[in-house]
Amino acid sequence: MRQIDTRKVVLVGTGFVGMSYAYSLLNQGLAEELVLIDINKEKAIGEAMDLSHGVPYAPRHMTIYAGDYNDCKDADLVVITAGVAQKPGETRLDLLQRNKAIMVDIVESIMKSGFSGIILVASNPVDVMTYVAYKVSGLPAHRVFGSGTSLDSARLRYALSRYFEVDAHSVHAYVIGEHGDSEFVPWSNAFIGIKPVLDVISEHPEYDFADLDRIYVEVRDAAYEIIKRKQATYYGIGLSLAHITRVIFNNSNSIVPVSVYLEKPFCGVSDLYIGLPAVINRHGIKEIITFPMNQNDRERFVHSAAILQREISSLGL
Ligand code: NAD
Repeated sequence: MRQIDTRKVVLVGTGFVGMSYAYSLLNQGLAEELVLIDINKEKAIGEAMDLSHGVPYAPRHMTIYAGDYNDCKDADLVVITAGVAQKPGETRLDLLQRNKAIMVDIVESIMKSGFSGIILVASNPVDVMTYVAYKVSGLPAHRVFGSGTSLDSARLRYALSRYFEVDAHSVHAYVIGEHGDSEFVPWSNAFIGIKPVLDVISEHPEYDFADLDRIYVEVRDAAYEIIKRKQATYYGIGLSLAHITRVIFNNSNSIVPVSVYLEKPFCGVSDLYIGLPAVINRHGIKEIITFPMNQNDRERFVHSAAILQREISSLGL
C-alpha cells in the first residue's frame, strides 16, 4: 500500500453506479488520483472531463483521467462497477452469465499490470462476481471483497430510523446473506442505540412486530421498486462504495457488511462469498464478524448460501 497522501483509485465501469461512486469520491475528497476505465473509452474520457471540471469546488484536489489497465499497477484500490444493469423484472442472478465473462476479462487485465492492492466489486450478482474476481486474480481473499449487503443494510437503517424516529447512525442493524432475494435481517442482532429492536417493540404499544416484516420486504425489494421507476439504482450504492473507500484509506477498522470469502465454515458454510459484517482497514478485510444466530436465522443463512453455492458451481471455475 502506498502513502496515504497518494491514494490512487482505478474505477472500471463508468456507468450510473461507477460515476455516482466517482462523484461521491470527489465530493468527499477521498482520493488524490482517480483513473476511469470503460470498454466505451469515449464515455470514460467524457466522464473524466466532466467530473474534473468540479475539482475547483471539491474539498481537495483530485487528478482525474481516463486511462487503461496499466494504470492499475500502482493503484491502491480498484473498484469494479462494469457490467450489464438489471432490467425490470430481471433477478440479479439472471445477470450471472452475462457478467461473468466481463469480470474474467477485467480481472485478468488488472492483474497483468502487476496490481497488488485491493479489489472492491459492485457488479451484480455481486457475491458471485466477487468470487470470480477472487479466483481469477489469485490475490488473498482479504484483499478482494464485494459491496455485498452494505447498500441493503443502509436501506434497512434508513427505514428503521424513520420508523423509530431516531438518527440512522444510531441504528445498528444488518442485512446479511446474498445481496439479492434470499438476504435477511437477523432481528435479534439489531439495536437502536444500546437496546435490542425486539425489546423496543415489546415495550412500546405504538410499535408492532408485524412492521418488521414489512420493513424487511421493503428493503429486500427496494432495487426492483427503484428500477421499475427509473431503470437503475446508483446513488445509494455510490455512497456505499465511497464509505468503504473511506474506511480503507482511513485504516479505520470499521465494521461494514460486505461480501466476504468464508474460508472457515460459518453455519457449516464455506468456500463462497456472502454478505456478513466485517472489520475493514487499509489492508482489506481484517476480520469477519461471526455471531450466534437463532435456528430460524441459521436456516435462512444456509438457504442463502446454498443459492450462491449453486450459482458458483454453475460457473465451472
Ligand atoms: P451501466 O450500464 O450504467 O454501466 C455499466 C458500464 O460498464 C458501462 O459504462 C459499460 O460500458 C461498462 N462495461 C461493460 N463491459 C465492460 C468491460 N468489459 N470493461 C469495462 N467496462 C465495461 O450500469 P450501472 O447501472 O452502472 O450498473 C453497473 C453494475 O452495478 C451492474 O452489474 C449492476 O447490477 C450493479 N449494481 C450493483 C449494486 C450493488 O448493490 N452491488 C447496486 C446497483 C447496481
